[in-house]
Amino acid sequence: MAEQVSTEEITYCAVHPDRETGLRCNKCGRLMCAECAVQTPVGYRCRECVRAHDDKFFKGTTADYGIVFAVAVVIAALGMVGLSFIGGFLLFVIILAIPIGGAVSEVALRLTGRRRGRYSGYVAAAGALIGALAPGLILYGQLVLSLTVIVYAALVAITAYGRFRLSI
Ligand SMILES: [Zn+2]
Ligand SMILES: [Zn+2]
Repeated sequence: MAEQVSTEEITYCAVHPDRETGLRCNKCGRLMCAECAVQTPVGYRCRECVRAHDDKFFKGTTADYGIVFAVAVVIAALGMVGLSFIGGFLLFVIILAIPIGGAVSEVALRLTGRRRGRYSGYVAAAGALIGALAPGLILYGQLVLSLTVIVYAALVAITAYGRFRLSI
């Protein structure tokens, strides 16, 4: 009887001792429940192994964040000024905001030796939002939240963020 029990051994998550699971991290082998497991391109891993992997991958320094932020502000602001010169039509904004967002991440990656930090994408997006809103604030002394400005700011920020997450 005892042997029968051991063949159907019930195992529990290493973090949540009350949760039954048979799933193991494919790196360190610890048991993990569905909530603790992270799906990666190489299979399910525990959060600690994913974090350790990310730390090796993300080499960005604090100075890099400063550069990324400054680049995002400047390019997004220049783009906004350029767009207002050609009329700021919504169609132009939609067409041009994505390459401008791409330029933000491309220039920032070049200036930082292609190092990325864990938060580079967020820093770039925040810089792009501020850069997009800054020209209106400086020119009119107040936040100009017209549809074109909002669409522009959102598209540049999302594109810059997305490129940071994807490009190597
Ligand atoms: Zn692990
Ligand atoms: Zn768990």
